[in-house]
Amino acid sequence: MDTDPIPLSALQHWVYCPRQCALIHQEQVFADNVHTARGQAVHHLVDQPGYELKAGVKVERALPLWSERLGLIGKADLVEIHPDGTPYPVEFKHGRKRSAVHDDVQLAAQALCLEEMFNRPVPRGAIYHASSHRRREVAITEELRRLAVESAEAIRAMLASGRLPPPVNDRRCDQCSLNAICDPAGTAAIDRHVAALHSLFQPDDSEESARTSKRTKP
Ligand code: SF4
Repeated sequence: MDTDPIPLSALQHWVYCPRQCALIHQEQVFADNVHTARGQAVHHLVDQPGYELKAGVKVERALPLWSERLGLIGKADLVEIHPDGTPYPVEFKHGRKRSAVHDDVQLAAQALCLEEMFNRPVPRGAIYHASSHRRREVAITEELRRLAVESAEAIRAMLASGRLPPPVNDRRCDQCSLNAICDPAGTAAIDRHVAALHSLFQPDDSEESARTSKRTKP
């Protein structure tokens, strides 16, 4: 890869909302809200590198990860190295146990990095939901792998273009710490007005075809 590596967290942001990803990784904007504050508190539990042995399983904390093939870089909260040598990534998230594809894609990208680093298949990992103290095991399926690879390619293209994607302007915005900066409703309204103005200056297809047929009549 001859471009800067993509942070693993960017994949999660991209799948949640491409505009959020652009604001954070392109515009370098960040803002805290209650969700980011809780997330930071949870990651504090695993942000010091180190390892321990538990019943034959080596547990690595804050393990640096990378993939030269995919141009990815980041850190795993926790990686268990099982007795047969298989890595098993565990990503910590605040909140109660819930399924979320944006969390799963980040875990899949970690698995792809670990496969390249350890030269072993990584078929599964888990999200640890701190509020409910429960793990949700995630199979690293072909679909998730493809989503991770395609998201990394889309992020690279977005960064190269320098363009800010349009706001999703839906329920995701309620939870988003960048809501005040992004102004999703206001931006979406402006986009609609611009599109309406643009359409006023576009030739009407029916008029254009009528003119063409008149010109072509004998
Ligand atoms: S407020 Fe909504 S559109 Fe804006 S970055 Fe957040 S999720 Fe995306």
